[in-house]
Amino acid sequence: MYSKQRIFYLSLIFSILFTLGVEFSQDTSVAEAQVATALVFPFSPDQTWKYSGGPHPDSGGYVPKKPSVVFSSLDFLAPTSAGTVAEKCINTSRSKAAPVRSKAAIISPFQMDGRVVSRSTAQSNPWVIIEAGGIRIRMNHVAPSTMVGVGTLKRGGIIGNPSTCGDSDAPHIHFVLLDGNNNPREIAGSTISGYLVGTATMSYATGCLIQIYSSICPSPFGANWNPDIKPGEVRISNPSVQIKSIFPGANVTVSFTYTNVGHYPVSVESIGMAARRGSDWTGSNWDFKYQTTYLNPGQSATYSDKKYFLLGIYFMEPVVKFPGKAWGGVQLEKGGFFHYPFRI
Ligand SMILES: [Zn+2]
Repeated sequence: MYSKQRIFYLSLIFSILFTLGVEFSQDTSVAEAQVATALVFPFSPDQTWKYSGGPHPDSGGYVPKKPSVVFSSLDFLAPTSAGTVAEKCINTSRSKAAPVRSKAAIISPFQMDGRVVSRSTAQSNPWVIIEAGGIRIRMNHVAPSTMVGVGTLKRGGIIGNPSTCGDSDAPHIHFVLLDGNNNPREIAGSTISGYLVGTATMSYATGCLIQIYSSICPSPFGANWNPDIKPGEVRISNPSVQIKSIFPGANVTVSFTYTNVGHYPVSVESIGMAARRGSDWTGSNWDFKYQTTYLNPGQSATYSDKKYFLLGIYFMEPVVKFPGKAWGGVQLEKGGFFHYPFRI
């Protein structure tokens, strides 16, 4: 009896340990999977900002990546063409230049409504923490005079304007991925406007924003070399192509759906498609057959043709419709494409 009881308790302990072990491993995988997957660039898609800093520690510093050092942060530099105005704060950077803020606005990086969790208008280190959909972001260098208040944050809502308040040579955002306790977490593996944030080996100068055919890699040569971010190149994400039926000489029917990425709830893209007879799809002899289709996110379209072996589908020249504006208010990604080749 006693020994049976002991065996029972031992097995109970083992089963608890086993269960805990399983749960621990599940927790780990969940934590790894909980990278931010639905972010968008924190500025208007008709503006071009710069990718001025690849993944780096929240506290800055030019350091190599080690497991013990969390690269939680990216830097986005406002366009100089937007212009600046004086801001009342303290610039602690080496230049000690008179503080300014950009006239370009920072926009919520979430594709849904969220909230402003907390903020500080401290003159030498202003910041704001925002969250939506389980993703929490802190932005530093937001001009105190423009900073959004705590409370609801609408999709596409304005956060404020980037400034040189704090340790900042030019109006930019220090963009930090946080966990629920406001601790910085690894930003590599997150996606922003359809770009995967790549792993960095050295702070600031490495760690590309990765997308097929159009990665944006930070420059190791300093600010003047930093690459542009044209949000227009990133309006489409997760397109999927389903081939319903393909027979030579028969109808080729392709359906596709996509989700778009953006700040605004109302947006559409025009879709172009290219077809070519034969198997050599590297030549210049494509027959482009554009079917301009205005679709809302999640809608699908069908393309049929008897004549062609369809070899590629191009999502061309997305056109965004902003709320309350006419179609084609901003044309983005001219000439860019997503390419889904397949052969028959
Ligand atoms: Zn930074």
